[in-house]
Amino acid sequence: MTEKIAVVGGGIAGTGAAWSLHRAGYEVELFEKGPALGGNAKTFRWTVEGGHAESPLLVVAWPQMYYHNYELLLHELGVGIEKLPISYFVQTPEGHFCQDGQTALQQRFSTEFRRWNKLVTFVTKVNDFFLPKSKHDSLYHFSYFNPLNFIPLYWMARLFGISSEFWDTIFVPIHCASFITTSMRGVPAVILPLLESIVPLEEPTQMGTWRGAPRQVFDRMTAPFAHKVHTDHEITSVKRRNGRFVIGDARGRTYEADKVVFACDATSVLNALESPSWLQRRLFGNALYVDDVDPTFSRFVVHSDTSILPEKNRQRILSDFNTYSEINEAGALECTFVISAQNPSIKDKGVPMLVTFNSQKAIDKVQKRIELPHPTHEVSLRNLVIMSMMRFLQGKDGMYYCGTFTTPEGGHDLSFMSGLVAAHLIGAPYPFARDNPLAVADFNQMQRMMVRATARQPI
Ligand SMILES: Cc1cc2nc3c(=O)[nH]c(=O)nc-3n(C[C@H](O)[C@H](O)[C@H](O)COP(=O)(O)OP(=O)(O)OC[C@H]3O[C@@H](n4cnc5c(N)ncnc54)[C@H](O)[C@@H]3O)c2cc1C
Repeated sequence: MTEKIAVVGGGIAGTGAAWSLHRAGYEVELFEKGPALGGNAKTFRWTVEGGHAESPLLVVAWPQMYYHNYELLLHELGVGIEKLPISYFVQTPEGHFCQDGQTALQQRFSTEFRRWNKLVTFVTKVNDFFLPKSKHDSLYHFSYFNPLNFIPLYWMARLFGISSEFWDTIFVPIHCASFITTSMRGVPAVILPLLESIVPLEEPTQMGTWRGAPRQVFDRMTAPFAHKVHTDHEITSVKRRNGRFVIGDARGRTYEADKVVFACDATSVLNALESPSWLQRRLFGNALYVDDVDPTFSRFVVHSDTSILPEKNRQRILSDFNTYSEINEAGALECTFVISAQNPSIKDKGVPMLVTFNSQKAIDKVQKRIELPHPTHEVSLRNLVIMSMMRFLQGKDGMYYCGTFTTPEGGHDLSFMSGLVAAHLIGAPYPFARDNPLAVADFNQMQRMMVRATARQPI
């Protein structure tokens, strides 16, 4: 008889697991708490002149040199990929910084930018020593023995003579949109070369984005089993009964399954389990999410109010910059994604499309206010330890885990891969042709990070 698998959480991790399992012949039921699949990869429907236009909202782009498997998925689904120039504009009470080498702030911090580059060279050399060069083109490879895993980047920066003012005025406003937090002093130094390759502090960069909105990815992945996708189903209990699972949602509906893949946040897993083991309580109860430490990115306003941008540079920001960060006199950081400067399919709709986090000013022309509990997990040593320990729970008693708390960092490729690895552990083969060595290497490495050696399956 075909095994029935319940997947809890309809972000890219859960949808990826369900997609892979369904292709492999498993019977799948996918449960999502919200009204649509996508998780953080939300699609927003803007009201524009003469109708509507759809765009991504939060997950807006990806570094193509690292997202090998995610791009294979898009190719297979026939979803177009566009190149997207990425640049940041930072406004402070003393002036602005915008990666063009011209601004007063850049000149003021010129010594520290030089020291920053020295730090990048130093960390790169240390990383090279511990990791073969061939493994550098990957988000997935790191050496457990590298001491820079344990030393915060902030401390290293201070050791290299970089001031906390530089950290707060340049580093945090630029990278808050990548880490989804302003609290980054615990970020390990080992990550610096990777960060610089994705978002260099001093230069604009380029990423990939969807030709349309992320909705089409989720629609196409689930089209063959659309009748088994249950949105508006918040799973609140997962119980073992007579060798099967009984899965219950917040409205009292129940479903049965042979195995369960959890692709939601660790807190939701813990709340749903009937009698969690000691290890489950320790790991799920201690996973730290960005909103546990800093609420900056947990609520946001979707709007068209351009008056929140400084008048002097307003038009420039609206047309040329993807992220606008503003530090006010009190030191609070407000961050705005300029969506209408990003996605090619909505660029010319004539409506400013803005998403503002931690808004410090009154905002008009609001299209929606959204709260996002546990948007992503914190990049920290504690979470890395939890991630590594998760291998002792994978597959135990028919339960599997994927999603951000099972990956070393937050990222769409990482979450997607975690879903594929969970599906593979159940029995689904690696879903793509094996002729892309970088994609295969990433999958194998993700498997090594998530699964005990004795349980790993060859692909
Ligand atoms: C503001 C922001 C911007 C980002 N930008 C980018 C970017 O540009 N590029 C990039 O690569 N990554 C980006 N990320 C990271 C990206 O969101 C993640 O890597 C990825 O989308 C996470 O996917 P996931 O499936 O693991 O989790 P999620 O997307 O969080 O999905 C988890 C799902 O589980 C559901 N769920 C929770 N509890 C239950 C329950 N009890 N029952 C049923 N369902 C439940 C949730 O509703 C949610 O849909 C960003 C993240 C944020 C927060």
